[in-house]
Amino acid sequence: MIGEEKGIERGEGLPVNILYTGGTFGMRKDLRKAEFLPLSHILKRIPEVREFNMPLRVFSWDRPMDSSHMIPEDWIRISRHIRKYYEESRGFLILHGTDSLSYTASMLSHILRPLRKAILLTGAQVPLEASRSDARQNLLSSLEILKEERIRSEVAICFQHLLLRGNRSTKVDTTSYASFQSPRFPPLAHVGVDIEYKSSLFLPPAKDHVPPQTQDACETQVMLIKIFPGMEPRFLIQLLKHTEIKGLLFETLGAGHMLLSKSLNHSLKSVQERGSHIAHVSQATRGKVKNSYAAAQPLSDLGVVGCKDMTTEAALTKMMFLLGNNPNLSAESFSKHMTRPWAGECSKD
Ligand code: ASP
Repeated sequence: MIGEEKGIERGEGLPVNILYTGGTFGMRKDLRKAEFLPLSHILKRIPEVREFNMPLRVFSWDRPMDSSHMIPEDWIRISRHIRKYYEESRGFLILHGTDSLSYTASMLSHILRPLRKAILLTGAQVPLEASRSDARQNLLSSLEILKEERIRSEVAICFQHLLLRGNRSTKVDTTSYASFQSPRFPPLAHVGVDIEYKSSLFLPPAKDHVPPQTQDACETQVMLIKIFPGMEPRFLIQLLKHTEIKGLLFETLGAGHMLLSKSLNHSLKSVQERGSHIAHVSQATRGKVKNSYAAAQPLSDLGVVGCKDMTTEAALTKMMFLLGNNPNLSAESFSKHMTRPWAGECSKD
């Protein structure tokens, strides 16, 4: 359930809509207890939010959570909230845990497109209650960006000194304040003394003011498997034989290289014959999957879709969205959609 709390009515224009879902941002100092401050306390602890002279409507999940416990229904809950208040909001700020922030941002970018209002997500590495918390700065920078309205067509993560396209982002650090990067795509803005936007990178804003598309089903019968040298194909074969999967994503080695195993190839073929779709992304942080080595040939012969320079988070959530909303998707359509950018999640070629 999502409840509205007392917001801030200062200033002119449409309000920024803040949704608090949990995460370290609002956790009590003793992280092991996983107890959360109510949103009203959070706003009281950051009185500077009033200085923006901008109306804020604030909403909170009745049970804020650690984002590592989020499930697809939670993504849908967030996207429906955004759609519900879309026309009456200047933009959205989702307060979220960092562990699955890139997954949520990626999924929102697939569900909510095209956009004409910014959807920002932020969180914190240290709880607001603690003296050296980064929560205050992350919240205030996000509000500044939403107030300026320079960015309108992106689902973006505002964290520390960077504004990143959400579906290009990944959590790279569990201890630094700068915990997010988008290694294959430049930041949308650098958040320093000034906010330096790279507006040439922004997606074109939607023509309509209406809420973005309404499909939001998610296929959960999917699996993500990381390939490693020495992996025993028989384990994978056993797993695939006994699991009802609709979508399988491999994290392959280098530019898209797989184990050398004829029996695994047969097993992948039979998975495809049962109507499932298979795709892969690279384990490398930069570059893309391509087909230049013999080690890439088996996947390419099987028609396993190489997701170019997509992050694992973007590819997995795209697969879930695509299969959830198109249960009888042909192999050709799956390949076409997985390799075509919907909201800037991969390069065009
Ligand atoms: N486990 C926390 C979460 O993802 C970590 C954080 O917010 O930084 O909710």
